[in-house]
Amino acid sequence: MSQTSSRFEVGGISVSPDHYINGKRVSSPQTFEDRSPLDWSLLLGEMARGDHDTARQAVDAAYEAFSGWAELKPAQRAEYMHRLAELIDAKSADIARVECLDMAMLQESLELRVIPRGARNFRAYADLAVKHEERVWSSNNTDNRVIRMPSGVSVIITPWNAPFMLSTWKCAPALAAGNTVILKPAEWSPLTASIFADLIDEAGFPPGVFNIVQGYGEEVGDSLVKDPRVRRISFTGSPETGKIIGAAAAENLVPFTAELGGKSPLIVFADADVDAAARKTAGQYDDSGQVCMAGTRLLVEESIQDEFLEKFLNYTSEHVLGDSRNPETTISPMIHPEHLQSVDGFVQRAVADGNRVVTGGKIWKEDGLWYEPTLIEPRSNDVEIVQKEVFGPVLTLQTFADEKEAVELANSTEYGLAGMIYTKDAELANRVGRAVRAGTVWVNCFLIRDLTAPFGGTGISGIGREGGDYALDFHSDLKTLQILQSSLND
Ligand code: NAD
Repeated sequence: MSQTSSRFEVGGISVSPDHYINGKRVSSPQTFEDRSPLDWSLLLGEMARGDHDTARQAVDAAYEAFSGWAELKPAQRAEYMHRLAELIDAKSADIARVECLDMAMLQESLELRVIPRGARNFRAYADLAVKHEERVWSSNNTDNRVIRMPSGVSVIITPWNAPFMLSTWKCAPALAAGNTVILKPAEWSPLTASIFADLIDEAGFPPGVFNIVQGYGEEVGDSLVKDPRVRRISFTGSPETGKIIGAAAAENLVPFTAELGGKSPLIVFADADVDAAARKTAGQYDDSGQVCMAGTRLLVEESIQDEFLEKFLNYTSEHVLGDSRNPETTISPMIHPEHLQSVDGFVQRAVADGNRVVTGGKIWKEDGLWYEPTLIEPRSNDVEIVQKEVFGPVLTLQTFADEKEAVELANSTEYGLAGMIYTKDAELANRVGRAVRAGTVWVNCFLIRDLTAPFGGTGISGIGREGGDYALDFHSDLKTLQILQSSLND
């Protein structure tokens, strides 16, 4: 039975605690608490806790809606998506306010950069699907044409960091490709997904085309990825969960794409603009280091180690830990007490294991979720603090003697999400940029994205690529139509 629970207010914005299935709000008998990392005593709301039955209802709805949505032309689907992008733009300050309270990312960067990217995601994919030209060629006396067929129901599972941006980034290509979507946001930051559903509703998407279910990964998430009617699974999260979902996808032979964790190298060569590199590097503490692509392993050429470290520590000392709503704050609290303890656990194990803390190294104050910006000099390359993703404001500093050693260190973990190189030497940048094993490598810049470029990771940082045509292809079944030349009437 469909029913609705009462909406609650967060930052003056009305939020529904319920799932959004087949164009309606649907509640669950059980709920889970959502608290604010800015003040853990603040209960933001009780969200519907989806279960197996919720997942079944959502797949029923998406499955039923599929043929109608798939039959539309890309330009017709684009109209809905552009309408949604306008609504996101109009509401972006509200969404930023709620996301700041829910996951504590700095409000200013949410408002200026992160939430507007949600609208850009929808515009980019709407336009790309319309512009798409089918590949056509002749061979063996036949005319060939590659056709993208919508593939069915796409399940999208997202993590708690930057939830609105990541959800829109992953849902937009699936909708543009003609698939219907079920989004399962993370249970630690569920609120802006619920606002996303309100906007989808306001944009007039047909019922069942876009559905969201709230709840725990091991419950409703597990049921979703195991439903055999689901034809695509697109996941962003940790490698550990990626393996579990990948196994479920394999069971039903469902194509699966995974954007996973990182432990990316940030390499500073002696000829680099050391000041710019040190500033950018220290800037990575902003969202408490809860950024998958962060360059957490600093690799610095021996000859500039002292200069780099002095500048880096100066920039780090300028950080202001505080309430993310305050424009002066540069370091937000961490998402959850459990995550704070996990980060501290990494640091304390590193200390016990003989690695040197250069700065930071502890929880900032007892009554909050901030962790001090931390730099560790590891005693060797194979220790846990160098080899495992911490997902917090914790960087390691190692030095290298030459290009060969820099590349060896850069490629010495199981991860391969991103890499950053600071140098003024074009040939060196090109050589090292190609040699670093990662999905994206930035030279003298960081986090700049062209939405048509492929995005993903190698090693345990991911499977497959999203972004641009790569994501549209993923959510489609490609068909080759081959016709014997001169065999058809005009
Ligand atoms: P997580 O793997 O714990 O959870 C991610 C999502 O998976 C959540 O929605 C969770 O409810 C769901 N889930 C958990 N178990 C499930 C199961 N058995 N079946 C179905 N769904 C399940 O990750 P997290 O802690 O939310 O996010 C942090 C991780 O995400 C870090 O490793 C980070 O690097 C990574 N991340 C990667 C990218 C990228 O683009 N590569 C971007 C952001 C975050």
